[in-house]
Amino acid sequence: MVSGSSYQVRAYNIKHNYDVKDFLEAYRLMLQKTIDEVWSRIAWVEKHIKGKRRVIPIIPKENSFKHHYLRSILMKDWRYSKHYVDSAIKQAYSILHSWRRNYIKGERSREKPIVKKKFVRIKETLYSFRDGKIKISIKPYEEYLEFDISRAWFLNRARGEMGELILGEKYLTITFRFRERVTKAEEKIAWDSNEKSLDGFNPKIGWIRMDLTELFHIHRVYELKRRRLQSRASKKPKLKEVLKKYSRRERNRARDLIHKLTTQLARTFKGYIHGFEKLNRERMLTYSKKHNRNMAKSDWKIIYKFMNYKAETVTLNPKNSTRRCSRCGMLLNALKGALYECKSCGLRINRQLNAAINLYLQMEGLSPSPKLFKELMRAWSGFTLTGEEADEGSNELKRSPKLMNPKSYVCPPKTT
Ligand SMILES: [Zn+2]
Repeated sequence: MVSGSSYQVRAYNIKHNYDVKDFLEAYRLMLQKTIDEVWSRIAWVEKHIKGKRRVIPIIPKENSFKHHYLRSILMKDWRYSKHYVDSAIKQAYSILHSWRRNYIKGERSREKPIVKKKFVRIKETLYSFRDGKIKISIKPYEEYLEFDISRAWFLNRARGEMGELILGEKYLTITFRFRERVTKAEEKIAWDSNEKSLDGFNPKIGWIRMDLTELFHIHRVYELKRRRLQSRASKKPKLKEVLKKYSRRERNRARDLIHKLTTQLARTFKGYIHGFEKLNRERMLTYSKKHNRNMAKSDWKIIYKFMNYKAETVTLNPKNSTRRCSRCGMLLNALKGALYECKSCGLRINRQLNAAINLYLQMEGLSPSPKLFKELMRAWSGFTLTGEEADEGSNELKRSPKLMNPKSYVCPPKTT
């Protein structure tokens, strides 16, 4: 049993078509400028911690600097709504405090944080929500962004108060915050592993997707490097050494990333039991190239190993998890493409989601049936983010697990 009271945030993404590039870039520059200004005024103080001599940064926080000086210099060439200046100051401090904590722990170097991601956090007080429409001011009395979410799938599922918004180039992330007493029997999430994503399923949360394209990309980069090298057939003895070096780097980069991803998963779904497929030959044959297959294999091993010490895990039998219909239990002979279409009951569902549901059923010791399927799909609520994830220093937007739309499947018309 896991119990206690915790503060929960659920986040939902909606796609938008506004051209906000210039605005986001201007904000990014302002945020960086704020960090630069604060950084240049950091006092480095020598201290003895646990017998070691350390140089500790003291971040300036006097009112005259933080609210008057900073505000006035930033305001000079800011053409958008003024409240973004205050947001940038707040965010810059949050980034620097996060950097400082990690620096003291020895996890970051004495290097100024650089803002690369283009997104703006918009506090509750800086937008309006009326009649199903979110209105965000960009330039006062001049430019507004309006998002009609009255028909969004998550509105009648979301609990709590609408909180901070995060505006990105293509998506607007809407958060809902609420306090929840967590008292649950051991909740389970089953994970289906794929080349570009980890797809999890739990009936209360729904379909959770962890994007692995960054991991895929790392392998791709090294594959290209290797190929380029191998085409230059000269200098053979040296070649071997360089290839070895590449493999080592590739492995290390993949490990680092998996470390971050699994920490995020374990934190986000604290108290859950995570089910992972046992590695077998059948699953790994779905990768076309030998190298990709080996990489996927070693990635998977690391994912499982890391999750195993960060959370409670169980292993599952992958047999037929992709081929079986999670609604009626029929086995499909040939799988084609991303869609699973059951010839027997007519279910049309994303292939990874189907596999994850099958694995979940296995975890609970249940067999698929249309009635059970209906029950499992009814309770989808939303995806849970913990407060810790608001770590500004990391690329948290990309790395957070995403909640997928519950309408990601089509049930056949009622005939049975
Ligand atoms: Zn079926």
